[in-house]
Amino acid sequence: MIANLAQLAAVLATALFIFSLHWMNDPKTARRGVIAGVTAMVIAVVATWIQPQIIHHGWIVGAIILGFVVGVPLSLVPLTAVPQRTALSHAFGGLAAGLVGTAEYFLGLGENPAHLTTFRMTALVAEVILGFLTFTGSLMAAGKLQEVKWIPQRPVTYPGQNVVNIGILGIAVALGAMVVMQPAAAWSPQAFLAIVGLATLFGVLLIIPIGGADMPTVISILNSYAGLSAVAMGFVLNNKLLVTAGALDGSSGLILSIIMCRAMNRSFTNVLFGAFGTVQKAKAGGEQKAWKQETVEGAAQLLEQARLVVIVPGYGMAVAQAQHKVRELYDQLTKRGITVKFAMHPVAGRMPGHMNVLLAEADIPYTALIEMDEINPEMPQCDVAVVVGANDVVNPAARYAKGSPIYGMPIIDADKARTCLAIKRSKSPGFAGIDNELYVSDNTWMLFGDAKAVIGDLVKQFAGGSGIH
Ligand code: NDP
Repeated sequence: MIANLAQLAAVLATALFIFSLHWMNDPKTARRGVIAGVTAMVIAVVATWIQPQIIHHGWIVGAIILGFVVGVPLSLVPLTAVPQRTALSHAFGGLAAGLVGTAEYFLGLGENPAHLTTFRMTALVAEVILGFLTFTGSLMAAGKLQEVKWIPQRPVTYPGQNVVNIGILGIAVALGAMVVMQPAAAWSPQAFLAIVGLATLFGVLLIIPIGGADMPTVISILNSYAGLSAVAMGFVLNNKLLVTAGALDGSSGLILSIIMCRAMNRSFTNVLFGAFGTVQKAKAGGEQKAWKQETVEGAAQLLEQARLVVIVPGYGMAVAQAQHKVRELYDQLTKRGITVKFAMHPVAGRMPGHMNVLLAEADIPYTALIEMDEINPEMPQCDVAVVVGANDVVNPAARYAKGSPIYGMPIIDADKARTCLAIKRSKSPGFAGIDNELYVSDNTWMLFGDAKAVIGDLVKQFAGGSGIH
């Protein structure tokens, strides 16, 4: 009876996971997708809990309480910290898989070595390698994104790095193959622990050479590793639901990585082994150009005379939480018959879809959000491009500066607009840590200040009737 119930629950939870992913495809159904995912997870936990072989209920209750204690504060982080929070979740997933695999091996060894079949051992070794490398790799990625002081943000590279990395992974896999063949030999437990150590080290070494604009792709690759380790864990524990949920997680992470790689004009190998993001300080060629500043009044005049305005949102809009003021500006401009479009860069902000979420929160019509490939051909006809806290995603160096950490990344062509108004607080660089010539180009005017305050002032100019009607 319980077995049938568990089977039914597994089918139901799997279906809900699939629908959840499907609904996440569209902002209109995304909320439903989240509810479906949470419901599926609750069903999965209950279906596992009611299994007759579960006898230590106290441990499960303890784990759930611990999950709440850690999970609730994590869910309260601001939207700008969601990428590192996501990386932390992958780290926990990887650690869980790694620990379960290690426990299963040593328990099996102590109780019934015959139980450690070649199939189980292969799944165990895969689970442990993927789990521990996801654990440390994700911790490193979270630390980099959180700008933790003792983790170098910039890519750390040295000669022969790829050989060292592949060598370490190769030794771990070779030891794994030996342990799979002879799980109960006298040397096997030590070899198993060595695999754990090597995978842990590999996770760190895999991430340190990556930085710059590649971090988003790395987060989604780690997502797929966490999913794959869950698949292996499902085989080890003979839990079908874990296999399907892990496969969905792993494949969606992989698909997202491919989409991100395409958007960034990268290949997988380039991201993982290209040490992309290496900062080679480009010499500021020729004379240093001056930054030109515009007043809010002047900017409002410019906007008022425009026919097409393209707003380019970036990470700074998220920091300033300026989306509602942006909406007010959008209303003021469209009221005057000016066409306003939003240029959406796939990696603007700090997580995929970051800008879409913020603009949707401010009720800006989806039809006004235009993907990069579609908006770029229109940029030469754009009268004013308003860059709101975006930097790397509008940096023309990405087109030609071979040594630049963002070289090759497609950008929004804000520099091709007739005029560009750029809002930021200072002359500091963006995420990739490099100068941006857009700010000093002939047709760019800076509006220095917090994006919310500056756009608020602009809106006041329009609403308050300071001569602009
Ligand atoms: P950037 O990080 O390049 O630039 C953000 C700009 O916003 C800065 O120049 C900063 O300048 C300005 N800013 C910060 N706070 C404010 C504020 N309160 N008001 C006004 N301006 C502000 O952002 P982009 O969106 O252009 O590019 C995203 C970068 O992040 C890319 O390199 C991308 O690869 C990377 N990344 C993206 C992820 C994703 O999934 N989307 C994940 C991880 C990394 P100042 O300090 O002078 O104000």
